[in-house]
Amino acid sequence: MDAAALQRIFQEQFPEAGQSITVAAPGRVNLIGEHTDYNDGFVLPMAVDAKIMLTASARHDRQVRVYSVDFDAKDTFALDNIQPTQRHRWTNYMRGMCLMIQEATKVPLQGMDIVMQGNVPQGAGLSSSAALEVGTAVVVNELNKLQLDPVLMATLAQKAENEFVGVQCGIMDQFISMLGEEGHALFLDCRTLEYQKVPAPFHEAGAAIAVIDTAVKRGLVDSKYNERRQQCEDAVKALQQWQPDLTSLRDVGCELRPQVDQLPDVLARRARHVVDENQRVIDSVQALRSGDLAAFGQYMNASHDSLRDDYEVSCRELDLLVDLVRANPQAYGSRMTGAGFGGCTVSLIPSTEVADLEERVLPEYQRQTGLQPRLFVFNAAAGARKLC
Ligand code: ADP
Ligand code: MG
Repeated sequence: MDAAALQRIFQEQFPEAGQSITVAAPGRVNLIGEHTDYNDGFVLPMAVDAKIMLTASARHDRQVRVYSVDFDAKDTFALDNIQPTQRHRWTNYMRGMCLMIQEATKVPLQGMDIVMQGNVPQGAGLSSSAALEVGTAVVVNELNKLQLDPVLMATLAQKAENEFVGVQCGIMDQFISMLGEEGHALFLDCRTLEYQKVPAPFHEAGAAIAVIDTAVKRGLVDSKYNERRQQCEDAVKALQQWQPDLTSLRDVGCELRPQVDQLPDVLARRARHVVDENQRVIDSVQALRSGDLAAFGQYMNASHDSLRDDYEVSCRELDLLVDLVRANPQAYGSRMTGAGFGGCTVSLIPSTEVADLEERVLPEYQRQTGLQPRLFVFNAAAGARKLC
């Protein structure tokens, strides 16, 4: 659906509404840097060319009325008393976003009429939730002429997801959906929120970023995520015997690196993943900057192997998909992306090999698992913006 089509639906749903704006916010895929965000480390996500669009106009009261094209459902809430809802849970991301902006700016926001539609696959790990939050933030920012800093909006969007929706996530998803740039990945320091855009002209280089959804229902992910966070904290505490002022695995430098391997087995493996993964992100940025896709693919492979063996957040289906992709000698690299235990893999392959994924990898995966995988081929897209 394009912006004009969404605007027509807006007019049907809200015929009385005034002048409208249309905003788009993308989903994302993390190219490398997994389970590093909550360790104050580095990530390298890119915004993808799948997005959520919102058409909206301001109201004279303090009501927000939202229509979802995809769910064919309408919901209303009041800006004076924003509460979560069980009935239309998809509006919780928007409710939370309005609440966080209102609390941070102390500006009583104007009411809004909103129509939204998206093609970011939901619940697949491509962060449709962040796209919805960030898209809402841009709508609120524009309609109320707040001129908020994009980094602040990303931070408030994360707060909405953490505190209002109740999902623990780092800053990466909201950050890249807000600040992504076409043709670029973003090298983000999750501690300082400093970032650099990194050229990612995969298409021009005859390559493609292929994301495959395993279609595994993720059951374990919450408990295992919390367990990994705890293990990283335990590893920091254990390493303090050698470096008392250490506060995060991010700060394990060359001098301390040998001690990591001396920790008790599980802690050693968890810490080794995080420390080496941070270095892989730095090396991958270098590889991209020099256009070395082969080296980049090797770092992706090493990342997956470390997530599988040391961090133990992969699963049979993710490993199978990665192995099937890597069986093509032309593939540059393949890894799981996201928290793990399901979700998607991300692979860098020559564009000519997309057909191999369709004809060999997907059917073989389906044959061995009985699951129906989904393939998406993405380019690096722009972050959230007003289209018109
Ligand atoms: P992910 O962020 O990995 O896609 P989440 O479970 O965090 O998965 O977020 C998905 C939720 O976001 C959906 O269940 C829905 O509530 C909301 N959402 C995403 N896309 C849309 C959409 N196009 N229309 C309405 N709600 C959406
Ligand atoms: Mg999400």
